[in-house]
Amino acid sequence: MFVFRPCSVGGCGKPAVGPFDTCAAHDRDPNRLQAWLRETLGPGRSIADLCLAGISLADIDMSGMQIVGCELSGAKLEKVNLQGTRWQHVFIDDGSLTRCDFSGADIRSSVFSGSIVEECLFLESDLVMCNFLGARCHDSRFDHSNLYGSRFLGARFQSVSMKDCNLTRAYFTAGQEAAVDLRSSNTNEAVFITETASGCAP
Ligand SMILES: [Zn+2]
Repeated sequence: MFVFRPCSVGGCGKPAVGPFDTCAAHDRDPNRLQAWLRETLGPGRSIADLCLAGISLADIDMSGMQIVGCELSGAKLEKVNLQGTRWQHVFIDDGSLTRCDFSGADIRSSVFSGSIVEECLFLESDLVMCNFLGARCHDSRFDHSNLYGSRFLGARFQSVSMKDCNLTRAYFTAGQEAAVDLRSSNTNEAVFITETASGCAP
């Protein structure tokens, strides 16, 4: 996993991004950060143990990339091609994913909790043991995917389909099935948890 280096701006406390000494918000030269990102990210490349928290990426081809142990908390990705990427232990919590295409991706043990996922495609992908806790997901399709062991508890769905998916040991909050098109998926192998006044029942 990435090694935490604090932002050099006193009192900030956020991690420094990439090879730079500040977090993305305190970066004095956003052009430099963007240039570095576009040198580092590209089709078929591999990155590991990098902090990319809070970055903004748009209209970039990252297809086939391998991304391991990276921190992308709060990142904003728009129209990013992530087809066929392989993700392991990636944190993109509280992020924003707009019109990104993850089709054919193999994403394992990664965290999307609290993120906004809008108009994204996860077709024929593996999303294994991933966490979408409290995510807001709309106009997105996960059809023909393996969602084994992933958790969607407390996520809000609108116009989302998970048709013909493997839902074995996938966790949902009871009632979500009304908002997600689960046709031809093995819903009997999924776990639907009823929310109680004190939160979610075990
Ligand atoms: Zn900072």
